[in-house]
Amino acid sequence: MSNYEVIVIGAGSVGVPTAMAVAEQGIKVLVIDQNASAGQGENKHAIGGIRATHSSPGKILTALRSLEIFSTWQEKTGEDIEWLQGGYLFPVYRKEEEDILKGILPVQKEYGLNIDYVGPEKVKEILPGINEEGLRGGTFSPEDGSASPLLAINAFYRRAVTNGAEFRFGLKVDGVSCENGKVTGVVAGGDVYKAPMVVDTAGPFSATVCGSIGLKIPVYSDSHEAAITEPVKNFFRCMVVDLRPGPGSKNFYFYQNRRGQVVFCITPDPPILGTDKRETSVFLPQVSQRMVSLLPRLKNLRVRRVWRGLYPMTPDGSPIVGWNRDVKGLLHATGMCGQGFMLGPGIGELVARMIAGETTENDEVVLKEFSPYREFAGQEALK
Ligand SMILES: Cc1cc2nc3c(=O)[nH]c(=O)nc-3n(C[C@H](O)[C@H](O)[C@H](O)COP(=O)(O)OP(=O)(O)OC[C@H]3O[C@@H](n4cnc5c(N)ncnc54)[C@H](O)[C@@H]3O)c2cc1C
Repeated sequence: MSNYEVIVIGAGSVGVPTAMAVAEQGIKVLVIDQNASAGQGENKHAIGGIRATHSSPGKILTALRSLEIFSTWQEKTGEDIEWLQGGYLFPVYRKEEEDILKGILPVQKEYGLNIDYVGPEKVKEILPGINEEGLRGGTFSPEDGSASPLLAINAFYRRAVTNGAEFRFGLKVDGVSCENGKVTGVVAGGDVYKAPMVVDTAGPFSATVCGSIGLKIPVYSDSHEAAITEPVKNFFRCMVVDLRPGPGSKNFYFYQNRRGQVVFCITPDPPILGTDKRETSVFLPQVSQRMVSLLPRLKNLRVRRVWRGLYPMTPDGSPIVGWNRDVKGLLHATGMCGQGFMLGPGIGELVARMIAGETTENDEVVLKEFSPYREFAGQEALK
């Protein structure tokens, strides 16, 4: 097989923008994915939320760059990815959530996020019809937004190809190949594809891919369900995240996309570990009750479709991005948890700079936080 400078394993939320950014530097890159086209892993299960509203510098910096890429994509390329700058609203009804959100405001502001804690009147203005009983206020970050994961990944894929990246679909990587502690390529479909650098963007399957050469990487999957309604006239613009726990669930979130459809998701508690993607009968009654209680106007909407996908989780809820210390040339960009779509373009550019040896001061902040060799203690507050 012809030689490449870089092989990317996985054409998903991270792999495709990575290939786009790497190829843009004139580097010869091949992307291999077991599925038939780009984004058929977990990217297509994302509901499209894009926020820089995180609690740690690394995620904030990465997502701010992603936001820039998503929000200017149409202007720069003429392609519509259904970007909607509606902001993120975290309404607050209890002191617990108020303390969490106010507690992370200083770091959010320090790293350049446009966000504020607003009173109940402002929350009602942002989300007309919100349940007013006990409403204390909330945070609002007007520059966050949403886009279509399907349109975005295909736009990034086309750009990657234009930049010179090659893609092989329907090909499963059976293992990474290495000699004397150095990567030599990957083995797939009985062939060896050679490259001195391999980027692991296999998401929920990173542990299996890295396990092929005896490496342990702490990425495991848990499953989350989402649904989409029929389209109706747009009546709110923001993503709404309710951090309160409920029976069998943690937070839930929803927004109305540019087509007028309400898209929503909930975090099961306890988490449902594993790779099962069959929809459950628990999800819809559970989430709709909570949504209607928060925003009663949603009660007449009809649901069109439900689906279930995987979060590639890490023990502390932050991504894993960094060079492997034992196998030279192997770079991990995985473990995106529930945020791979929004972090993907920022991570892609970061990986391209790492490969080119041109990381910046900010990159070092990000890479320290995302290091594969960190303690994995603690928890990101908005994971
Ligand atoms: C219900 C739900 C809602 C979500 N909502 C959001 C959201 O609003 N915003 C957001 O940012 N994120 C969201 N996410 C999370 C997001 O979908 C993931 O974090 C993201 O898709 C992970 O990106 P990835 O590139 O790591 O994995 P993927 O996109 O799954 O890409 C990995 C690719 O690797 C390929 N692969 C794996 N192993 C191999 C192999 N051995 N050989 C060849 N190919 C291989 C797979 O086929 C796949 O295409 C949501 C997830 C779910 C389930």
